[in-house]
Amino acid sequence: GQCITHCPVGALGARDDTEKVWNAIEDEEKIVVAQVAPAVRAAWGESLGLAKEEATVGKILDALKKMGVDYVFDTTFSADLTIMEEASEFIERFTSGELKERPMFTSCCPGWIRFAKSQFPHLVKYLSSAKSPQQMFGAVMKTYFAEKLDVSPEKIYTVSVMPCVAKKGESEMELFYQEYAGRDIDTVITTRELTQMIRAAHINPATLQDIESDRPMQDGSGAGVIFGATGGVMEAALRTAYYLLKGENPDADAFKVVRSPGFQENHGVMEAEFKIDNIRVRTAVVSGLGNTRALLEKIERGEVQYDFVEVMACPGGCVGGGGQPIHDGEELAFERGKNLYDLDQKSEIRFSHENQDIARMYEEYFEKPMSHKAHMLLHTEHKVR
Ligand code: SF4
Repeated sequence: GQCITHCPVGALGARDDTEKVWNAIEDEEKIVVAQVAPAVRAAWGESLGLAKEEATVGKILDALKKMGVDYVFDTTFSADLTIMEEASEFIERFTSGELKERPMFTSCCPGWIRFAKSQFPHLVKYLSSAKSPQQMFGAVMKTYFAEKLDVSPEKIYTVSVMPCVAKKGESEMELFYQEYAGRDIDTVITTRELTQMIRAAHINPATLQDIESDRPMQDGSGAGVIFGATGGVMEAALRTAYYLLKGENPDADAFKVVRSPGFQENHGVMEAEFKIDNIRVRTAVVSGLGNTRALLEKIERGEVQYDFVEVMACPGGCVGGGGQPIHDGEELAFERGKNLYDLDQKSEIRFSHENQDIARMYEEYFEKPMSHKAHMLLHTEHKVR
């Protein structure tokens, strides 16, 4: 395609996994279950001639169903699950004194994980063990959801639609628990591959309806939506960490200072310090790998100290991913990020711990964050090869 000619790593751009999805759809033995990341909605409509307001995630879900996918979900649901686990993990590691020397780092961006493993291997042990929303959703689909459908995990074929080529590699991660079929995610397709499939199926975008995602993994909070923008994971995690520590909600916008004002400012780093009761939490948010390297070197030299750091490889976060390994237009990424913050502002639920479908799943299945079952299915161990 056109992207490949602009792509500095042509090999990545050339990988096409749409055939695998078509084969799974045709296979009568398989139940195909798909998830769509929030950031995808920002870009998919552009090439199909849909205006921004028309290109909703609900229409992507409709398109997937029209192509023959059996169940469709919004990754916002599992972003809330990631926050529940990651906020709990942070509190556990922070209060145990484990983070005295170095901060805990977020781990939902595979571009950053790869960079950390190759460039800063001694920091790998400080990565959060929580899987990304994509991986957690796959694990939930093959266990909790398979039980709901009363089918064996082997029958479930998981597909995710991501704004990110690096997510294809993430789906190959090692799992603690191997009892369910193979991998969390069977195939990852990018936004660009999704639009290819819509075209190949001769679906007229103008006929798509705004449909809801399936049950029982339907709810998503505003905190889950902002995952797609730089600062979003940190803000969402702090909202829930506050609740876990104090037993009451903070103002939903109490931590908004971690939202990055723009890539150029302060070398893409947003620092903030919060007091929750007597606990002082020092945070930093960074996007873009050049900025990340500079920040990590400062941490290594002891010039700055933090407890919790969010890193996204793409400038501006996943909204800047766009399903392509090149990012032309950082400003656009920040514009798209603002859209996600607007959606959060308008959300009925602003806290991951108030997502009722998540609460029910803990009650029925995982018991509580960081339980043994949660550890086996929702966490991983990052290792330096
Ligand atoms: Fe992928 Fe970029 Fe998002 Fe990282 S920041 S998960 S590389 S789109």
